[in-house]
Amino acid sequence: MTQNAHLDLELTPEEEEMVELLQEEMGLPTREAVLHMLVKQAIQRVAITCPTCGHFARRTAEDKAQCRSCLSVITLSEDIWEAKADLNVE
Ligand SMILES: [Zn+2]
Repeated sequence: MTQNAHLDLELTPEEEEMVELLQEEMGLPTREAVLHMLVKQAIQRVAITCPTCGHFARRTAEDKAQCRSCLSVITLSEDIWEAKADLNVE
């Protein structure tokens, strides 16, 4: 799982300091690792992993999400995210 999409990020001195503190706090080896971790934590608030294709599905409601990749509609039922096959759309 190595992707080399490059992110050129210029941080302000203040942000530098924040990242440095987070790095210490999280016990991570590099600043990059901090950013990876933050993105991972943030995405969990807005999206889930699509059970059908493995891409991210953005949450559209508390118990609903839609995958942009395979267009599955995913609903939360009994704590499990389930994709509904979109075969018969009314
Ligand atoms: Zn999907």
